[in-house]
Amino acid sequence: MAIQTEQPELIFRSKLPDIYVPKHLPLHSYCFENISKVGSRPCLINGSTGEVHTYYDVELTSRKVASGLHKLGIRRGDVIMLLVPNSPEFVFVFLGASHLGAITTAANPFFTAAEISKQAKSSKAKLIITNSCHYDKIKDFARENGVKIMCVDSPPQDCLHFSELTQGDENKIPEVEISPDDVVALPYSSGTTGLPKGVMLAHKSLVTSVAQQVDGENPNLYFHSEDVILCVLPLFHIYSLNSVLLCGLRAGAAILIMQKFEIISLLELIQKHKVSVMPIVPPIVLAIAKSPELDKYDLSSIKMLKSGGAPLGKELEETVKAKFPHAKFGQGYGMTEAGPVLAMCLAFAKEPFEVKSGACGTVVRNAEMKIVDPETGASLPRNQSGEICIRGDQIMKGYINDPEATERTIDKEGWLHTGDIGFIDDDDELFIVDRLKELIKYKGFQVAPAELEALLLTHPNISDAAVVPMKDDAAGEVPVAFVVRSNSSDITEDQIKQFVSKQVVFYKRINRVFFINAIPKSPVGKILRKELRAKLAAGFPN
Ligand code: AMP
Repeated sequence: MAIQTEQPELIFRSKLPDIYVPKHLPLHSYCFENISKVGSRPCLINGSTGEVHTYYDVELTSRKVASGLHKLGIRRGDVIMLLVPNSPEFVFVFLGASHLGAITTAANPFFTAAEISKQAKSSKAKLIITNSCHYDKIKDFARENGVKIMCVDSPPQDCLHFSELTQGDENKIPEVEISPDDVVALPYSSGTTGLPKGVMLAHKSLVTSVAQQVDGENPNLYFHSEDVILCVLPLFHIYSLNSVLLCGLRAGAAILIMQKFEIISLLELIQKHKVSVMPIVPPIVLAIAKSPELDKYDLSSIKMLKSGGAPLGKELEETVKAKFPHAKFGQGYGMTEAGPVLAMCLAFAKEPFEVKSGACGTVVRNAEMKIVDPETGASLPRNQSGEICIRGDQIMKGYINDPEATERTIDKEGWLHTGDIGFIDDDDELFIVDRLKELIKYKGFQVAPAELEALLLTHPNISDAAVVPMKDDAAGEVPVAFVVRSNSSDITEDQIKQFVSKQVVFYKRINRVFFINAIPKSPVGKILRKELRAKLAAGFPN
């Protein structure tokens, strides 16, 4: 842990003035505060069916769902697990739960049975809402732990159906006193080290974070009510939940929901619905930039492409800018624990600032950022790289049931340590240059090395293992394993890969296995990941 110094701290603030944040409002009330102005406008457009839900519809359905959830026994502080792809149902449940002071923990529906039960158990979910195709993965866990299952499509016999929620009586929502500090969302993230942990985001955190992006003197830095915002990134990740859905709702924009990314359908939907804002991740930027189909579609409605969630190469940034000369392109920088947005480009401010190539924007309003020397903890001046730290009401309350991990991440002065290395230049632009933490990002998805290492060590023919990222053109990074075989074992790379892939979601699969005599470790037994990463960079094993 970094040592604090007595030196005065060098704190960086937004280039824009602070804003008023209505932190007393519960998240759903904040999102629908302007409903009288936008009520009959499209709110959710279902990309698969073309169905449109107006703001009035969405607000009403979320109240019905709240009433239905209450009838099922869901109360303030209870956790509902969502295991569904992007869909209006996801939105209704998230907002319905917020009405009751309940908490949503969402996960990738393609998680394996073991991954789902870990999150359901850790979050103490009382109800899992999913599609019938995932039912078999969860039924045993649910039975053994007394968890109810609800399906959004035709349910198996012993499963509740979603209509029980949408038929709820919107006038029968109990009066619930929701505190700004009540948790509303519980995404999972491994943070700077270890296994995935539940990140407690309170109403206050998300209201502040959304306000930082779309409220105030520079109204709607990204979104306006006339915008059509693409929601292709999975809503179970906080980037999409916050910076697409919640920001879109607050701005009164239309949100075009796509279940999964597929380039041709994406181009068709952009043309058909005149999408104006595209929050995406680097692999989607790459797919768009490289698509030979691009010229066949009218994409002139696009006003802004925003990349975030993982590092974006400068070359790719330049390519995509050249393909969309009429649109602005900028990056945002987020981390689940930070609520998640730490920095954003200001291309749409009243007096727009130039967006520099490679920059991740400037620190959000109503927040403080500092760059610290990871060795000494001293805060660093402009143009010097160090660990990026942030402070403000938007950051998480902490990790659920894990005070030690919380203390390692948020220090006594309230600074959240990101584990990312970057610097701030003379124009307040933030550049990320490296990652101090273990995290691997496959197409923006989190892969926690500790999770794969623990899995590898359960194999009787493996005596030690370490997992690190390896650069990959399509995915950004892929997990690779350094493995020490047990005495006399001749286990092969393929056997190890198969052993892992049976137990994890597709993006956590080990891409390569390198056999090694010993895993390099510090005197206290910490894996020296930097050494392993350096080996790969130097062309190991060749
Ligand atoms: P997550 O919690 O899944 O959102 O992952 C957060 C991590 O993704 C950050 O701590 C960074 O390491 C990385 N990340 C997010 N946005 C960017 C960006 N614009 N450039 C580089 N890395 C990023």
